[in-house]
Amino acid sequence: MGKTVFIIVDGMGDRRINQLNNNTPLGYVLKPNIATLLKEAACAYPSVLGKLAPESDAGVLADLGYDPVRFSTGRGWFECLGLDMHPREGDISLRVNIGESTRGKLKSVRTYLSIDEFRTLEKEINNKVSLPVEFEFKAGEGYRAGLIIRAKSKTFSAFISNTQPGYAVKFFGENKLGFARQVKINIVPKVKALKSTADYTAKILNIFVSEANKVLAASQVNKEREKEGKNLANCIMLRDGAVKDPRLFDINKRFNKKWSAVLGMPLEKGIAIASGMKVFDTGESENVEKDLKKKTEAAIRALQQSDCVYLHIKQTDAASHLGNFVEKCRVIMLIDEIVIGNLLHSLDIPSGDRLVLTCDHVTSSSLKMHVNDRIPVLLASRKFGRCGEFGETYCSKHALKNIKKATDIMPFVMDKL
Ligand SMILES: [Zn+2]
Repeated sequence: MGKTVFIIVDGMGDRRINQLNNNTPLGYVLKPNIATLLKEAACAYPSVLGKLAPESDAGVLADLGYDPVRFSTGRGWFECLGLDMHPREGDISLRVNIGESTRGKLKSVRTYLSIDEFRTLEKEINNKVSLPVEFEFKAGEGYRAGLIIRAKSKTFSAFISNTQPGYAVKFFGENKLGFARQVKINIVPKVKALKSTADYTAKILNIFVSEANKVLAASQVNKEREKEGKNLANCIMLRDGAVKDPRLFDINKRFNKKWSAVLGMPLEKGIAIASGMKVFDTGESENVEKDLKKKTEAAIRALQQSDCVYLHIKQTDAASHLGNFVEKCRVIMLIDEIVIGNLLHSLDIPSGDRLVLTCDHVTSSSLKMHVNDRIPVLLASRKFGRCGEFGETYCSKHALKNIKKATDIMPFVMDKL
């Protein structure tokens, strides 16, 4: 049986940009190794969440074959799982952003902290914030953290609003999905109960935020940052609280293949754990070349132990959120050179191995946000003849007809290729 590498490049898809000859970053850059794959390949161009602009959790779930509407109970579950925090049903598990605000006005939703700074703040919040129930706050990478508030006599409710501007929630029965929304507000609102059964949850979370913000403001970490003219980490934003286990089906059993995941971000790690994959946590290196080399080496090691490897690459999304399409182009070229270039030596497409290259959602570099556009997918398999190109424009004209939704990709790859 052939091996499969399934690469999800975060927010790789984009819109056309004038400075790139009205092309997208993926369509514009030279990709010699991807060009080699095109000898036996086809393209797909599915939608992820229809009209909603997906967050990464929905995009990754869909790409891996889990309908986000059916499975997602809130991103916070996966974020906390990926931070090794042990979410439980009835507790509320949330994704946290740390940003900066001045006199009530939000200046930034992301304050990048060093590991040492973040660990110090984590300790201070866990020691100094006083709540009537137990909680655990855990630092993640850069500006991302996880929060679990443990249920005591009352269980918590997921029917609460997000407080990070630009991220809204939508409910599907008891299920819950976050999605990106363009907003102009620059204040961080309080958590609102969206049902009366969530009043207690909102109340506890609002106490946490106000206490934690006081701890942050008083911290030596921020005093040092202020002295050095760096932006402050004094504003907690919460999103996508989950109280239920999403109960993903076991991907190994579903497709009768042994899966591994190579990644460094908590959300994607949480999804991989919940789906039953063996995780190779590489962490994230700041240097893109170093990071891609480390991930590629781990993917090659993982391939020796499993039939299928899910490889997640983050940097394209970060560049898009900063509006830096030049950096996005550079990352895509490095993916071609380092990741695809090396995987080509480990995979044998003509003998039955497969490679899938896609993204979780489209992040527009001009808008600096996720949009609801279709995602480009490259499927390399000996079942196909030559594919002309790989980019959004080509995909929009030459996509396979039987992959209409992102959730169609995985069953197609596993059952048909
Ligand atoms: Zn993403």
